[in-house]
Amino acid sequence: MFGYPKQSCLHLPTPISYLSNLSDRLGIEFYMKRDDLTEFGVGGNKLRKLEYLIYDAKEKGATMLITVGGAQTNHGRLTAAVAAKNQMKCAIVAMDDYPGILSSNMLLDRIFGAYVFLHKPDGTPLMDVVERVADKFESQGERCYFIPMGGSNEIGALGYYECAQELKQEFKSGHVIVPLGSMGTYMGLFCGLHDSDLTLTGIQIMPYEEDIYTYACNYFNKIKESWHLDFDVTEEDFDIATDYLYGGYNVPSETVRNAIYDMARSEAIVLDPCYTGKTYAALLDMLNEGKIKKDETIIFIHTGGLPGVYTPSHQKAFEAELMDGVTILG
Ligand SMILES: *Cc1c(COP(=O)(O)O)cnc(C)c1O
Repeated sequence: MFGYPKQSCLHLPTPISYLSNLSDRLGIEFYMKRDDLTEFGVGGNKLRKLEYLIYDAKEKGATMLITVGGAQTNHGRLTAAVAAKNQMKCAIVAMDDYPGILSSNMLLDRIFGAYVFLHKPDGTPLMDVVERVADKFESQGERCYFIPMGGSNEIGALGYYECAQELKQEFKSGHVIVPLGSMGTYMGLFCGLHDSDLTLTGIQIMPYEEDIYTYACNYFNKIKESWHLDFDVTEEDFDIATDYLYGGYNVPSETVRNAIYDMARSEAIVLDPCYTGKTYAALLDMLNEGKIKKDETIIFIHTGGLPGVYTPSHQKAFEAELMDGVTILG
């Protein structure tokens, strides 16, 4: 894409599921693009970005990938998986407390052989910690390649520009709904769907320090320059639903859990409590509010994140609601 090569690690295009039970009940044509069903490391959206990032890393002679995120970062887990497949080292730096147990993604990170560095969120700049970690490994002879939060830079977003090309082959029209975290997924799709009849809504998952539309414009302009795009945007071009934080980033929420139960019990598809469950909860609300119309074709991008249900804070909240169906026979 745009002269940037990639190292293929996926079988593309990803599958499409038609959600027949929910389509009937909700009165929409409901499709899901299964970016959760991608090869490495239990799957997820970060792999499309990593196809481009790993090529760039190897091109630059790197022997080690370093990335950042929360302790339960899906992106860190998939970076660890891609590093393993390429026989590279990997370190994940998280500004986070130890969750009390080696759980979910952190457990998988270590199973993939990645090093995890946790630093108390005490105001120390993240990049200072990254530098410390990189120095340590470089003094041992490694060549480190840094991947930003969520893989969301100009290179990572190429993976979702490519996903947009798939969607245009698969659907003539429709409304694409996607969770919006570090924004690379949304922005890649936005650029790729620009010339199509597919509309795109990003569901904001986490608070932004600056105005999210300003951030989106700046990110777009960086991409525009790097990919040599020939169109401009204003803030109004971005459709971002900002009302669905449900208590904050990765905070357990009853509304989100109810959405997860609904999807699992209607379609046998598991959503995660941080991103996709929140996105489905938002979609249900948008339907109720008439922001999504009856008979619309909805294309929900399932971005993965399954290990999130095993995060201690989420697991406890699930347990409180679900133990009533567990009978211990004497
Ligand atoms: C990272 C992530 C997202 C958000 O993607 P961004 O490109 O960071 O906006 C959505 N869903 C899951 C499961 C993720 O891990």
